[in-house]
Amino acid sequence: MMNRREALQAGAGALMGASAVLAGRTRAAAQDVQPTPPPATDSRYPMPPRWNRELRQLAPNVYAYMQGGGPGLSAAGVSNAGLIAGRDFLVAIDALQGPVPARNFIAAAKQATGKEIQRLILTHHHGDHVNGLQFFTQAEVLSHPYCRAEVAKMAPTVPKMWVPTPGVADVAEERRLPVPPVTFKDDMVYMIGGTEVQFRVVGPAHTWGDVVAYLPQHKIVFLGDVGFFWVAPYANNSYITKWIDVCNAILGWDVDVLVPGHGPIGGKKELAEMRDYFQVLGVEARKRYDAKMPAGAAAAEIRLGRFDNWIGPERLIMDVVRWYAEWNGSLTPDYNAAAVREATVEYNAVKARDKKTAELIPLSRMDDLAAEV
Ligand SMILES: [Zn+2]
Repeated sequence: MMNRREALQAGAGALMGASAVLAGRTRAAAQDVQPTPPPATDSRYPMPPRWNRELRQLAPNVYAYMQGGGPGLSAAGVSNAGLIAGRDFLVAIDALQGPVPARNFIAAAKQATGKEIQRLILTHHHGDHVNGLQFFTQAEVLSHPYCRAEVAKMAPTVPKMWVPTPGVADVAEERRLPVPPVTFKDDMVYMIGGTEVQFRVVGPAHTWGDVVAYLPQHKIVFLGDVGFFWVAPYANNSYITKWIDVCNAILGWDVDVLVPGHGPIGGKKELAEMRDYFQVLGVEARKRYDAKMPAGAAAAEIRLGRFDNWIGPERLIMDVVRWYAEWNGSLTPDYNAAAVREATVEYNAVKARDKKTAELIPLSRMDDLAAEV
């Protein structure tokens, strides 16, 4: 594993030959490009709030397990989960990143309700939503078939031991990734106690297997990673056009409270903001795509105005890569690690050319992101 300096040097070294060509292309393309919104370091734009780790009660028998976050704090692996309490047992939504958050969630659920989690529904296959599965020993796990297939691919590759990592694992202990035994490919409704929970299959959006949980009586939706509030959305496995459509569909539902996969609890306003992130980015990226600018160079130039303050701004690179893949017909459900690395090299070339060395992104950081969300 390279350290930050080595990664930067490797990235810069690889670029020495390409930078002159790239700079020429960037300049030529820039002539066709309209001015972009000002950078969000402008104090007119709000900063994301801070939010606390807590099991928050949203309605009788309905809870959101929120992992804390905010500006300057790590965005890695801090996904949110859901909980619905029945008469005899609990139904959970998502398994979190590892032993620390999973055990904290299980303990908080037990403390609040006196009951055990006996069903667990996954919103999608990303590690920060499934890596904690081994700790839900009492629960039958259900998922969309695509989610199950992806977890089945990942399961043999996970390390044998947890590596102590702040906020994820305190000690080295045995690690495994159980594959969900039950799948559902169409909407599925649980009646849990008096609470109706509609698990709605909405993908492709964030992934090809997205499921959200809609509680019509309480006007609550657990979005999984269909929702990123105040956090730059992660699109490495996404179909962004369809993700925008899904946002618009949910904005038409009778809902008040939206629990995102990442970020603080919000409502329709916050989901519309995330949709607008993609739309603003899409407009800016499309101008540069049409001008034949490489994706990474485009990402280096694009400013998103109020969205530049969102947590995890480097995700803009992968999000541009995914927009480009839609437009050039190369989009698949899979993460294109090579394209994201290439775009990061291009991005760093432009930043180096513009003497914005503080904005260089180590390639290792982008690789880490692939395993993160
Ligand atoms: Zn995700």
